Amino acid sequence: VESRPVVSFDDQFAQELAELAVPWQADEAADPRLLALNEPLAVELGLDPSWLRTPEGVRLLVGNQVPAGATPVAQAYAGHQFGAYSPRLGDGRALLLGELVDAAGRPRDVHLKGSGRTPFARGGDGLAAVAPMLREYVVSEAMHALGIPTTRSLAVVATGRSVQRETRLPGAVLTRVASSHLRVGTFQYARATGDVDLLRRLADHAIGRHHPDAAQARSPYLALLDAVVASQAELVTRWMLVGFVHGVMNTDNMTISGETIDYGPCAFLEAYDPATVYSSIDTGGRYAYGNQPAVAQWNLARLAEALLPLLHHEEEQAVELAVSSLERFAMSYSAAWSAGMRTKLGLPGTVGDEVLDPLVAELLALLQESRVDHTSFFRALGRAAQGDPEPARSMFVNLAGFDAWARRWRDLHPQAELMDRVNPVYIPRNHLVEEALAAGTDGDLGPFSQLVDAVTDPFQERRGLERYAEPAPADFGRYRTFC
Ligand code: AMP
Ligand code: MG
Ligand code: MG
Repeated sequence: VESRPVVSFDDQFAQELAELAVPWQADEAADPRLLALNEPLAVELGLDPSWLRTPEGVRLLVGNQVPAGATPVAQAYAGHQFGAYSPRLGDGRALLLGELVDAAGRPRDVHLKGSGRTPFARGGDGLAAVAPMLREYVVSEAMHALGIPTTRSLAVVATGRSVQRETRLPGAVLTRVASSHLRVGTFQYARATGDVDLLRRLADHAIGRHHPDAAQARSPYLALLDAVVASQAELVTRWMLVGFVHGVMNTDNMTISGETIDYGPCAFLEAYDPATVYSSIDTGGRYAYGNQPAVAQWNLARLAEALLPLLHHEEEQAVELAVSSLERFAMSYSAAWSAGMRTKLGLPGTVGDEVLDPLVAELLALLQESRVDHTSFFRALGRAAQGDPEPARSMFVNLAGFDAWARRWRDLHPQAELMDRVNPVYIPRNHLVEEALAAGTDGDLGPFSQLVDAVTDPFQERRGLERYAEPAPADFGRYRTFC
């Protein structure tokens, strides 16, 4: 019986960017047990799901069996954390196992989170508890199902080792898949070494992997910056449209690919309010829901700074051109936001921004005033487009305000079918995530897999899943996340 993965891995990052890669091994997992396996993703990667369930497969998922061609490494990066620069962060508890080419021919990183201390661990224990790894799994898979670029989750394996947090908790490794783990912070690190050749190799690697058109541009590194700005503007717009609060948008948690990465203290909006913060450590509200576009642009300015030595080489007006590139973030963001809101409201493209923008602004003010649940409202508004305004209307305290707004909106002939394709019924609601993680920590994966089922098919309303579509009960209280 063949007992090896059918695909072989590559170690392109480790080879091309050895200065940013420390070869390292995952801790031996004493008693590895598979808690969750993403079978469709396994197939997409060319891995056999039934083989991954064997003891050998689980050893691969947890990093204890290194596949042919792989050189596991801890990746170096720097980053601004809450605005303060740290010159040396890096994978303190994670490893890049290697890359593989998926069934569609695209290179994908396979990465381990919670695999033990590395030379970047500083004071950390290098470990992860079951609950936060299950959280990353369910939220990232929900984001993918919502059509939002994201790293993916292949598996969560309990290690059999406990982790000391406020209490002793079961430990786990998340096997994460990404189009790469290049971050703004990777460029900051390379820039800070003063080695321009390294910076250039990193930029060339990023272009080859994510933005190949940039190689043909007159100024490839400026084109790289433009491409990252455009993909992050698109990404953050999608977060905003669906009410996602990342929670820790440090520059080391922002990718070059435009995928969402690092699901720590993230959460979805309940009542609409731009000032919403869930993370217990974000005391200043730097990463509040409504600040996310501005923070993304700030982070991209750090990327532009890191690229400047390369930009100076290709353009006389490097600084001015980098500034214009960053200014395009705001333009791309507001264009994508308007287009996205037009669809959420079911309105045709013939409704111009001069009509749409004030309509949206008034709606958001009404939602905020009545503390309306963001996800439920937009879905219920689809019913209003079909002639039944009551489900949406009943969410408002200011009924006259809603009625006046709804009259103007109805006059624009909204299309419910358009709305139901973009306004989800099911998101990973905070109280359901907590319930699933608590049960999972106690060894009951039932609520977790039910939640995964609900949120990975988010647009089709299904009988029996009513509680997954409802806001948190009042006694759930104010939600706080920890990481
Ligand atoms: P994060 O904010 O989770 O993206 O992590 C920021 C930095 O802290 C990264 O360099 C992580 O590798 C590191 N880190 C987080 N948790 C741990 C841990 N338990 N042990 C070692 N390093 C950690
Ligand atoms: Mg190789
Ligand atoms: Mg991180």
